[in-house]
Amino acid sequence: PYEPVIGLEVHAELATNSKMFCACAVVDNTVAPPNSAVCPVCAGMPGTLPVVNQKAAEFGIRVALALECAVNPVSVFARKNYFYPDLPKGYQISQYEQPLAENGRLVIQTSKGEPLRVIRIRRVHLEEDTGKLTHVEGGSLLDLNRAGVPLLEIVSEPDIHSAEEAVAYGEALRHILRYLEVNSGDMEKGVIRFEANVSVRPVLADYQSAPLGTRTEVKNLNSFRALERAIVFEIERQSKILDSGGTVEQETLGWNEASERTYSQRSKEDAHDYRYFPEPDLPPLKVDEAWLTRVRAELPELPRAKFQRFVSEYGLSDLDAARLVEEKTTADYFEQAIENRKSKTPALAPGASVVNPKLLANWMLGEMFGLMKTRGETADRLKVRPEALADLVGLVAGGEINQATGREVLAEMSENGRGAAEIVAARGLKQVSDAGFIAESVRQTLEENPDAAESYRSGKETVLNWLFGQVMKKAAGKANPQVVRGELERQLKGS
Ligand code: ADP
Ligand code: MG
Ligand code: ZN
Repeated sequence: PYEPVIGLEVHAELATNSKMFCACAVVDNTVAPPNSAVCPVCAGMPGTLPVVNQKAAEFGIRVALALECAVNPVSVFARKNYFYPDLPKGYQISQYEQPLAENGRLVIQTSKGEPLRVIRIRRVHLEEDTGKLTHVEGGSLLDLNRAGVPLLEIVSEPDIHSAEEAVAYGEALRHILRYLEVNSGDMEKGVIRFEANVSVRPVLADYQSAPLGTRTEVKNLNSFRALERAIVFEIERQSKILDSGGTVEQETLGWNEASERTYSQRSKEDAHDYRYFPEPDLPPLKVDEAWLTRVRAELPELPRAKFQRFVSEYGLSDLDAARLVEEKTTADYFEQAIENRKSKTPALAPGASVVNPKLLANWMLGEMFGLMKTRGETADRLKVRPEALADLVGLVAGGEINQATGREVLAEMSENGRGAAEIVAARGLKQVSDAGFIAESVRQTLEENPDAAESYRSGKETVLNWLFGQVMKKAAGKANPQVVRGELERQLKGS
């Protein structure tokens, strides 16, 4: 058997307003016409000068700190020289010897119950994106809208040992980038791209101290599926080569989506092939303590910490907590609902919440997720505000209205933004627990359905649910279901 060894290079576009070294706008290329956001700087005209986008640098620092990296007080831009038509200057401005940040870590978990794994981050550096080539019959079309868009490259140590771990790493990173609001995470728009370095080594005695095997590098993996399939393919391909006594060649590979195979692009270039040298047109990037301190103070709670807190503070299941923290806006919404109820009830003991968090989570994950999906809205855009949802859940928990009525009220709230109590009052939906009223509804229902009552008594217990439905219908859905059920059983058994 062989141990797979994987290191990932992740390219993330930084969602700044303008490009890395010029004032051109960063545009959505699924909408913007080709070459509509281009100037002499990003078109690589001779005599133009780049200027560092401070916002992009700050976004990079945010990510570096979130990944627990050491940010270098001085980092240096370098020219990476190669010829390709999508690179108008003939070189890419990147960082090489002194990157923005180094030596970080990212904790991952492949699935619930699996042990946590620490993947070390080797470096994080700033660079610029290239243009986009489209090959058509008779030639190629070049769109420079993407040329010069800020990119952050995040390079891991070869600490990953399966395709599954690689995907978990990619997903955890995407999650953090989205929480930091530096990247939309829209994989279909190509804002996050992966390169996978893959090697295998025989599992022999002491193999962990043996040198790593020869690696191949698979370029341009634009989805988690591609990342996963490409790594699985490479592990298998390399293992077969070694099995048959051959040697793996170090090379750069492409990924064919259709056939799900890697193919050779070129034998691996070494760093010296790029003739890296310091960019003479840019001063070194200086990051002082004050800047670091401010960015650190502004970091949001990160997904993993939030997940753990939701489990411990609110007693949610791992699954519910994971679903709630998936989107930051959803997690914030959930906590705002809890907070609002607290502040409305000042007599409450510290730490206590008026609305039961688990109940609230159920409403969030059921009804609210449904609403967000059908309306195509994130939590922060919904007409139902967090405090209004908390009120509604409170009405249900307190027995004022039943669950089914609650859903109906919520549907109306989402249409017109009115409060729960207001709708309940206006539509006379208050749940009836009055024993006399319910006993009478049950009596009438049994009287009108003697056959059903009879078949229940002769042992067909499933009829109970149907009878229950009939009583609820008679009571226009407002009757307290627990009271109805009790009364129904009592009358059926009694008389
Ligand atoms: P480059 O690809 O630019 O030459 P590096 O040599 O620093 O850069 O390596 C890039 C990536 O390859 C890193 O993520 C590193 O962890 C990974 N890597 C290096 N050696 C191996 C190996 N033998 N097997 C798997 N991954 C490796
Ligand atoms: Mg590489
Ligand atoms: Zn420009």
